[in-house]
Amino acid sequence: MKAVFLDRDGVINKERGEYTYRLDDFELIGEVATAITMIKSRGFKVIVITNQAGISRGLYTVEQMKACHAILQEACQGLVDDIYYAPLHPSVSESLARKPGTLMFERAIVKYDIDTTSSWMVGDKMRDLIPAKALGIKTILVGDQPMGKEADYHRKDLFSCLDLID
Ligand SMILES: [Mg+2]
Repeated sequence: MKAVFLDRDGVINKERGEYTYRLDDFELIGEVATAITMIKSRGFKVIVITNQAGISRGLYTVEQMKACHAILQEACQGLVDDIYYAPLHPSVSESLARKPGTLMFERAIVKYDIDTTSSWMVGDKMRDLIPAKALGIKTILVGDQPMGKEADYHRKDLFSCLDLID
């Protein structure tokens, strides 16, 4: 199985520079649902990998986060196969799951029997790409952040990645 792993804020919904957990703030980036539909039609699993440290900091609940994710699933007809989230913040506890840790990716790789070398990670920060690169996954940086050495490609947004992901 091959997969496209997606960071959430800044890839799926707009990065606001702060925690996004209110439904009104969870604004999908244009053409994301179309992009996910096309990625799925090319035979990839679509798996979201997101740090959600605001949960352990008591800023919002798992239920509030899941309500945001329901908006995503509704927009793309439930085509997202799985969503992994890391709730811990370093001020509460260190975590192997929290990106740039690899544990969320490793869980998905085992669960879905994913071939990393034919898979992709799309993120808007190098923190998203470092764990993917360490596992042999191809990486695309989207948005305005400067490229680091773990980024294989750069594109404007997820839809613009469709020329690479096939
Ligand atoms: Mg992000």
